[in-house]
Amino acid sequence: VAGVETVRVALTSQRQRRVTIAVGSGKGGVGKSTVSANLAIALHQAGRRVGLVDADIYGPSQPRLMGVADLKPTAHNKVLNPVQTPFGVPLLSMGMLVTADQAIAWRGPMAAGALTQMMDANWGAADTLVMDLPPGTGDVQLTMIQKYRPTGAVIVSTPQDLALIDARRAIDLFVKAGVPIIGLIENMAGYVCPSCGEVSDPFGTGGAEAAAKELGLPFLGRIPLDMRVRVASDAGQPPVTGNGPEAVAFKQIAGHVAG
Ligand code: ADP
Repeated sequence: VAGVETVRVALTSQRQRRVTIAVGSGKGGVGKSTVSANLAIALHQAGRRVGLVDADIYGPSQPRLMGVADLKPTAHNKVLNPVQTPFGVPLLSMGMLVTADQAIAWRGPMAAGALTQMMDANWGAADTLVMDLPPGTGDVQLTMIQKYRPTGAVIVSTPQDLALIDARRAIDLFVKAGVPIIGLIENMAGYVCPSCGEVSDPFGTGGAEAAAKELGLPFLGRIPLDMRVRVASDAGQPPVTGNGPEAVAFKQIAGHVAG
């Protein structure tokens, strides 16, 4: 597994082409989409030209997270034009290509076709693409790895052991394919009580950091389990655009990813 320096060199040297960052997780509901949206915006805030690809066929939530739930992409000569979001990050989502009920029934080849349409879209001057993958290790991940070879992968996990076991499988998929792991992010670490601000650890804490250490991978940081994250996300106002502690955490993580 490549160390952090190796990955950073790769990110820098490919800047002229296009850096592609795959965001994966072992299972659903760990906050992979939330992290992808906020990471993309934080990288944009740091001066990159970032596009966001929502390839999570089982839960394409980026249109809602990015406040563009009603918008559909246009196409020119069969090439899609990403939807502009209020946060300076253009977006394409599986959710824009099918209805919610259809997506679940989609078969591998159809999902792979949609992924190709999104990846080969008119991303213009974007120098960085953040790709929100489905959870686990299925067809979309394989197509992404084989056809588009991400510059690096970021793995999101909760502190729970079970999530980490699944996360290890996701890590393995990238490692075996020679995609460098940029690092692990621990989400939902430490619950911040909305009334008193006291921090407790319903899922435990430090599990992802310990796993990163054990696997010799960089640990990129942790995001607290905070009701404000969900409320802002549901309202189409990504928390990184606010000024809470979670905004700081997302920005720090983006700093580690960008190197
Ligand atoms: P995934 O993409 O892994 O399925 P999501 O990003 O959709 O997960 O998150 C699942 C749910 O958890 C969403 O309702 C989201 O708003 C919420 N959530 C994610 N991260 C946090 C957090 N740090 N604190 C509070 N709620 C969170």
